[in-house]
Amino acid sequence: MNVEIINTGSELMLGRVLNTHQQWLCRRLADLGHVVTRQVAVADVGKEIQQAVREALSRADLIITTGGLGPTSDDITRELIAELLGKKLIENKDVLAHIESFFAKRNRPRPPKTSVETFVPEGALVFLNQFGTAPGLAMKIGDGSWEMGVGEQNAPSANFHLPSASPKWLVMLPGPPRELRPMFDSSVVPLLKREFADEIFVCRTLRSTGIGESRVQEMVETDLQPLVKLGLEIGYCARPGAVDVRLTASGANAEKIVRDGETVVQKIIGTNIFGFDDDEIENVVVKLLTVHKKTLALAESCTGGLIAHRITNVPGASKVFLGGVVSYANSAKEKFLDVRAENFSAHGAVSEMVAREMAVGAREKFGSDFAIAVTGIAGPSGGTIEKPVGTVFIALASAEKVEVKKMLNPWERETFKQVTSQQALELLRIQLVCA
Ligand code: ATP
Ligand code: MG
Repeated sequence: MNVEIINTGSELMLGRVLNTHQQWLCRRLADLGHVVTRQVAVADVGKEIQQAVREALSRADLIITTGGLGPTSDDITRELIAELLGKKLIENKDVLAHIESFFAKRNRPRPPKTSVETFVPEGALVFLNQFGTAPGLAMKIGDGSWEMGVGEQNAPSANFHLPSASPKWLVMLPGPPRELRPMFDSSVVPLLKREFADEIFVCRTLRSTGIGESRVQEMVETDLQPLVKLGLEIGYCARPGAVDVRLTASGANAEKIVRDGETVVQKIIGTNIFGFDDDEIENVVVKLLTVHKKTLALAESCTGGLIAHRITNVPGASKVFLGGVVSYANSAKEKFLDVRAENFSAHGAVSEMVAREMAVGAREKFGSDFAIAVTGIAGPSGGTIEKPVGTVFIALASAEKVEVKKMLNPWERETFKQVTSQQALELLRIQLVCA
């Protein structure tokens, strides 16, 4: 099955907006078993959009367009596609009622321009927009004639004809991510499950941390070879502080092949695997803390609160996370965490001793079961031969002990923070898993 995505929007071509739909839709579709074969972005220009759709229709079984369904003059996707397919736009009463209630609920008059959003290509399925006004649309383009839905007999536009006789679906989604994403999940997913049920493709991502990408490959590759012969595909993706191993297969045995592949990888690097698919290490840590009924406090220097940010992104973090101190200056480490001043001159602010006292201080101040502390040299200046830029000490204090790790993360500041926060969370994860 061929799936193509067409992202419309001049703002994409001008670099004003990052094309997040492209990634989000590919990911969602892959999780559902459909690998996107091609994706293009085009400006809000009539001939560009029509050309892209025309080309996609000549290859793909499913085409998804994004953007250009709104009420302003640059929102032209719906009209252009209707024109290309020789479809009339007709007013849809459900959409009109939906838009009227959308504005009534907000005590605002309905802007007259929203009227264009109530006109949909004849025969199209309509997805009402839970978080906006413009509806999504889906058209089945079947068997060589141009009917879409039942009884539709309009002629296609003169300069275009469908080369294959197999039915295709063309789905149009609105541009704003907060509208597109829930609409995809609530309306497009059921459509795909219904219309493309025969396509079997299985994808499982094992998320590891603590080993580099090429080392991961070296470790697992040989043992996976027998499964590769059966159709397993392996992909590696390095991210800051994590390496994803992606196992995919298609066909009748896909489920078993991927499951067997997972067992092999688990056996070899199981302790480094913190999660699967969409898991982030912070979600795993919050879950483990919740299960073990333990609480956490933080003392962050060089990560500037990033660990707290990641933890508080997780729903339910309030049950386990008590708080943190961003103690950047030595004076703050002294004042809020009781780090002894003599340590700074004796060992330096970036030292095992300071990390240890920060963690112990945070644990005592917050009264938590665990406390993580980080202190390091983010750079670009401040490094020495003994402690080069990227040196970081990560401490984990619990009732029984304080564990301190020295790491070297010589990346630019943002990556440094991300990788350091990942290592800090991993230290806690390992301790919770072993508990
Ligand atoms: P609206 O009713 O808001 O005009 P629309 O369906 O007409 O919706 P667009 O006008 O194309 O959609 O885009 C609206 C906004 O959605 C853009 O300004 C942009 O912020 C966001 N957006 C559009 N396309 C993308 C994309 N590919 N990736 C991320 N954001 C996007
Ligand atoms: Mg718009």
